Amino acid sequence: MAYLIALSDGHGLETAGKRTPPIASLGGRVIRENEFNREVVKYLDIELKRCGFQTLLVAPTDADTSLTARTNLANSKKADAYVSIHYNAFDGSFGGANPEGISIHIFPGSTSGRKLAESILKYLKNGTPQVVRGIKEDNFHELRETKMVSVLIENGFMDNLREALLKINVDFQKEVAKETAQGICEYFKVPYKVEVEKPLVGTLYRVQTGAFRNQSNAEALMVQVKSKGFQTYMVQDGGLFKVQVGAFSKKPNADALAAKLKSSGFNVFITTKSGASVTSSSAAPKPVPTKTVKVGSKVKVKSGAKTFEGQGLADFVYKTIYDVIQLNGNRAVIGSGKTVVAAVHKNNLIVQ
Ligand SMILES: [Zn+2]
Repeated sequence: MAYLIALSDGHGLETAGKRTPPIASLGGRVIRENEFNREVVKYLDIELKRCGFQTLLVAPTDADTSLTARTNLANSKKADAYVSIHYNAFDGSFGGANPEGISIHIFPGSTSGRKLAESILKYLKNGTPQVVRGIKEDNFHELRETKMVSVLIENGFMDNLREALLKINVDFQKEVAKETAQGICEYFKVPYKVEVEKPLVGTLYRVQTGAFRNQSNAEALMVQVKSKGFQTYMVQDGGLFKVQVGAFSKKPNADALAAKLKSSGFNVFITTKSGASVTSSSAAPKPVPTKTVKVGSKVKVKSGAKTFEGQGLADFVYKTIYDVIQLNGNRAVIGSGKTVVAAVHKNNLIVQ
C-alpha cells in the first residue's frame, strides 16, 4: 500500500494579509503567499506521485478553505503525513529588521514531526542559498489537529525583497518541491525517483536567473541583470518567460558565469532546456515598414550584396539609385532606364 501524503497550500489565494509589500521593480505589484504555496503543492504532487506515493490535496481550489476543513479531510482519509507549504512574514515591510530564511515547524514535543522535519530540512537547505532558521515547535492548528505526522514549512520571508522575488521564480518553486519530496522519501524509506530528462546531442548549458509566467516580471529582472553589466536575453518555453545570460557547450564555463552572477546577488540555475527567443517588449525595435519591390520601383542595393548569381558588385553600385526593370520571383533585374546593370536578390534591394 502506497503512503498517502496530505498536502496543504496554507491559505486561499485572496486570504487577507498573506502577501508581500508592493514591489517597486515589478511596478508596485504585490505577490500573494498562495501564488507560491499552490505552485509548490502542484509540483510536489507530481514529485510524490512519481516516487510512488498517493497524495491528498486538502485545499485543491483557490478558495479560502478553513484550516479545520483541511485537517478534518486529512484525518478522515487517514493520511500518513501532513505537509503544509507556507511563506513567512515579519513586519510587512522591506525595511527595518529584515529577517530571511527557511524554518520547519512541528507540534511541541512531536518526535515523529521532528524526524520528518529533519529529513526535509536536510534537502531543503540545498540549492538556492538561504538562511536556515531550523526546526521550531509551535502550537499551530495544522500541527495540533492532525492525527498523523505533520510539518509546516516556511520557505522564506515575503517581506524580505530577495526572498519575495523568489516566490514567483518557477525554478525556485520546483526546487523547493523536489527537495521537500526528497525529505519525505527519506522519512518513509522510499527511494527518490529522479525526473528523467532525455540527454540531447549538442546540449548547451544555459545560465538562467529566473523563469516567470508573466513577461513583465521577467523584464523587471532583465533590467536588474543588465544594470550589473551582464548581457541578458529572454526565451519562452512551456508558458514561461526565462531570463538567460549565456549558453555554453562546456558545463564548467556555465558554472563560472553562474558564480559571477551569484556574487552579484542573483539566483542562478543552469538548464539544458532551450526555448524560443523573445524580444523584450520594452526593448522591442520598431518594425520597419517594408516597401515591396515592384517593376518600376526606385531602389538601392544593400551595401555589400552580391549579384543573384553570387558575384561581387562594383562599389559605386551601392551608391546609385536604380530602376527595377524586371522581376522573376526573387530575381530582380536593375538598371537605369532600360540599361541593365545587374540581377540581384530582391531582398537585397531597398526601395527608395
Ligand atoms: Zn502562511
